[in-house]
Amino acid sequence: MSYNKLTIKDLDVKNKKILLRCDFNIPLDKETGAITDEGRITSSLPTINYLLDNGAAVIACSHLGRPKGEWNPKMSLRVVSERLSELLGKPVKMAKDVIGEDAKALAAGLKPGEIMLLENLRFHKEEEKNDPDFAKALAGLADIYVEDAFGSVHRAHASTEGVAHFLPAVSGFLLAKELEHIGGALENPKHPFVAILGGSKVSDKLGVIISLLSKVDTLLIGGGMAFTFIKALGGSIGSSICEDDRLDYAREVLDKAKALGVRVLLPADTVAAAEFSNDATPTVVNSFAIPDGMMGLDIGPETVNAYIEEIRTAGTVIWNGPMGVFEFSNFADGTFKVASALAQSSAVSIVGGGDSAAAIRKYGLEDQVTHVSTGGGATLEFLEGKELPGIKCLLNKGAAVV
Ligand code: AMP
Repeated sequence: MSYNKLTIKDLDVKNKKILLRCDFNIPLDKETGAITDEGRITSSLPTINYLLDNGAAVIACSHLGRPKGEWNPKMSLRVVSERLSELLGKPVKMAKDVIGEDAKALAAGLKPGEIMLLENLRFHKEEEKNDPDFAKALAGLADIYVEDAFGSVHRAHASTEGVAHFLPAVSGFLLAKELEHIGGALENPKHPFVAILGGSKVSDKLGVIISLLSKVDTLLIGGGMAFTFIKALGGSIGSSICEDDRLDYAREVLDKAKALGVRVLLPADTVAAAEFSNDATPTVVNSFAIPDGMMGLDIGPETVNAYIEEIRTAGTVIWNGPMGVFEFSNFADGTFKVASALAQSSAVSIVGGGDSAAAIRKYGLEDQVTHVSTGGGATLEFLEGKELPGIKCLLNKGAAVV
């Protein structure tokens, strides 16, 4: 799916009120409510600063968590407004509501160069229902709509799609960067093009696997999903995670890869343990002969070396999903070494959101890869080649904005 959308640079934003959809869905500490990872706030700064510096008034909005249409003070965006204000070095006016009297009054009085934040969009059930009246009320606060919440563009919600029916709609820098990097890698990859897929389940990534098969030269499989493939090939996987209802599908994928000339590498060795616990003793075993009562929790050292070699010689690498249970330090080696190889390689390297993005950040390597996607589900759907409603609704390059 290729997109050619207008960005904020294509418009005159001076003296305009901008409804800016951000992704401020940040993780909060369950006990204290403090922000535990502010990556999503910092990655919104280039767009916000550009708009403010160019004389726009910014009405930022986002969802946070899953309040399911109910007001819930634990999911208030106030904590984001406070941190955003520190990062910008200027006040961020926090609205007490979303489309209510307070938001309307604040928006009406907002001056060029000033910023405000609406309350959590999902306090209204109309948001996720893409209710046109709710979308119209949001749009009524501003002159232009800017979409910068890449993590939400696979959803047709009022703030990601509905508002675009009422306002000129363009992309912010964060969204444009995602489209450029992921879209560029998929459309015009430097070869060899290598995809590394991991994580717990095959079923979550069916669409991505099929779609990537027609593009990549080599597919490296790790994580829990490898065991469904290994069992499908007749291997003994002990008590490793496996989706028995996907064995036929795994065989189909392998047949299709063969027909397309795509090399598929499965882990030759595995770090296994008797229990799903960081305290369990790690033992390296043959992935196709895991003893009964043992489960594979990471790729083994021989596999790590083979995968590193593929990454070293690649022109483009897309990585989605950890190679093992990287949350357990004793079973994180495969994920860490793949992440390090990616950081060291000269390939165009794209880390596709979710747990792999969390892993690369945890190891402090995010600045050494070409792009770390801010999306989770959105990244997967983009890789699959699905049309994403939050992007489709934006104005195409060449459109005249009046
Ligand atoms: P996903 O959400 O499908 O990308 O999967 C990410 C999760 O997969 C992480 O929480 C990992 O702990 C888990 N995972 C990776 N490898 C394994 C494995 N061998 N066995 C069980 N879980 C795994």
